[in-house]
Amino acid sequence: MSSIMPTYGRLPVTFTRGDGAVLFDHQDIPYLDALSGIAVTNLGHSHPEVTKAILEQTQTLVHTSNLYRIAQQERLAAELTALTSMTNVFFCNSGAEANETAIKLARRYGHNNGIQTPQIVVLEGAFHGRTMGALSATGNKAVQTAFAPLLPGFIRIDRDDTEALESLAHQRDDIAAVHIEPIQGESGIRPLSLDFLKSARRICDEQGWLLSFDEVQSGNGRCGALYAFQRLGVTPDVVVTAKGLGNGLPIGACMARGDAAKLLVAGDHGTTYGGNPLCCAAASAVINTLSRDQLWDRADIVRNYILEGVHSTLADPASIREVRGLGLMIGIEPVIRPDNLMVKALEERLLINVAGGDTIRLLPPLVMRGEEAHEVGAIVGQLINSLESN
Ligand SMILES: *Cc1c(COP(=O)(O)O)cnc(C)c1O
Repeated sequence: MSSIMPTYGRLPVTFTRGDGAVLFDHQDIPYLDALSGIAVTNLGHSHPEVTKAILEQTQTLVHTSNLYRIAQQERLAAELTALTSMTNVFFCNSGAEANETAIKLARRYGHNNGIQTPQIVVLEGAFHGRTMGALSATGNKAVQTAFAPLLPGFIRIDRDDTEALESLAHQRDDIAAVHIEPIQGESGIRPLSLDFLKSARRICDEQGWLLSFDEVQSGNGRCGALYAFQRLGVTPDVVVTAKGLGNGLPIGACMARGDAAKLLVAGDHGTTYGGNPLCCAAASAVINTLSRDQLWDRADIVRNYILEGVHSTLADPASIREVRGLGLMIGIEPVIRPDNLMVKALEERLLINVAGGDTIRLLPPLVMRGEEAHEVGAIVGQLINSLESN
């Protein structure tokens, strides 16, 4: 540990294997995983079809180069575009990189339309990643200040502030895009209002701006559809995703349709690893497993088991201020701040997380069984009962 840069506050546990919604530590003690490595293992640990795809691909070919055609990449793009209204995909290695792609795409779009310094409208409370562009787009001063100067070209408005968006439309002629995290994850599972999302779509259409959604966390089945926008009924021009796409293998994607789909051309953008045969084979297994039985339908089922479990042990319903989120992005905000709750949960052999400082964040896998989900909820209820104000 000591020779690793201390960039993370780590809990004192090491896992050696995983199966479905359960992780086992070095003594083979099981822990219920209600976090999925932060929305990554949406199909659970060691999913047989993903494991098989990874094994077969490693035995055949791991990496070539984007200098050549890559069949696994073309297949994955075809699968993603068949299941969404997007038509073209760029593959990269992470959520931050997928956001960088959307930022470059928006700027390129602006330049193509004669805007010299194209601006991107972003929202307070949004998280888009840690690279400089994505960090500059993020609406959280705590993670930004130490790394100034940030990238210019972002205009920040409050979440759900349709009026602010309307007035930008009247005041400015240098906006290229609006970039939105439709259900803000890192800041505490805060869904944007449907009204705001629809207004953003309308204003973008009226102004000729691109609308892009950051579905790094909300995508890949987690919110009860392959991508949350499909359930919300608001179709952006650009969607970025990562996390659950590879179920643990690093892959991100920036998908687009319409004018945005073919904006980036040879020489504009690239990455060495992005879309390599191994990660694409894993992601294809993920997408096929999700879509074959519409596995995303389990999101609401598992969510309900968890919330039933919470209420089965909760001493006082008034100790919860709000339950937020969609499908398996679950935010539970207790009246008393859940400080140290990750540690207390770990003692109960449950993996959860606190987001935004005030909200218990649960991101369990779609494959979590009903009784496991009920158990997760029951432990969370007890943890909330044990909160003490200070
Ligand atoms: C996690 C996350 C990112 C960053 O993804 P990385 O793979 O960590 O770079 C970006 N946007 C959202 C919404 C996220 O949840």
